[in-house]
Amino acid sequence: MSAKRAERGRSGKAAGRRIALFGGTFDPIHLGHLAVARAAERRFRLDQVYFIPVGHPPHKPASDLPPFEHRFGMVALACAGHPRFVASLAESGSSDGAGPHVCYSVDTVRLFREQFNRAGDHLYFLLGADSFLDLAAWKDYDTLLDLCDFIVASRPGFRSDTLRQVIPPQLLASPSGAAPESRAIALRHTSVFLLDSVDSRVSATDVRRRLEHGRSIHGLVPPRVEEYINKQALYR
Ligand code: ATP
Repeated sequence: MSAKRAERGRSGKAAGRRIALFGGTFDPIHLGHLAVARAAERRFRLDQVYFIPVGHPPHKPASDLPPFEHRFGMVALACAGHPRFVASLAESGSSDGAGPHVCYSVDTVRLFREQFNRAGDHLYFLLGADSFLDLAAWKDYDTLLDLCDFIVASRPGFRSDTLRQVIPPQLLASPSGAAPESRAIALRHTSVFLLDSVDSRVSATDVRRRLEHGRSIHGLVPPRVEEYINKQALYR
């Protein structure tokens, strides 16, 4: 799909559903995540944004994280009141009864492609620039780049010209990888869009540090999430 067409509106509901998958540890979910999701929802006229907390991340020992149930609970609270934001259990990592297993984005995207398989359905993978720059460490990342469009949200300190360096040259649509619009990189089957309207300094690391030091996190996470963290005495 062309970069221009991929950005066209929710107007074409009959033409298919426009879905973004937004994965992360969400440890905890914060206002930066919601700013990213809102900006993507607006620019790409998304019908739904699936927030997908990962139960057992490939690159982090799960023992370093609060239990999945807490992180999922906070994501669900943060999605409440946003009609298009959905808390997803797709990467809970325990649904098959065989015990915990590591989840990979490439498998998750395939799963959603099976679910959203009508003509005109369009999947986006939504992530921050720091995550995109780590992509080469992800399982089958070249396959992943072929499977769906990417929306990369800028983060403070990030330089947009670094995005291209992560992409294997053979995946680019042309040697220059130039797309019809400057904020996108055209790949052979998909596009990577830069979402540069987000400028949030909030990070989960900062939220956790503040809580560890007994400082306020007011204004950094949604009020319901702040209440949950306090009631459950998380990150103390
Ligand atoms: P941590 O500080 O623990 O590394 P985080 O704040 O980056 O966490 P994650 O759950 O790892 O949160 O993030 C999920 C996704 O959201 C990642 O792709 C990350 O890059 C992106 N993201 C998180 N915060 C922001 C932000 N402030 N601006 C843009 N993208 C963000």
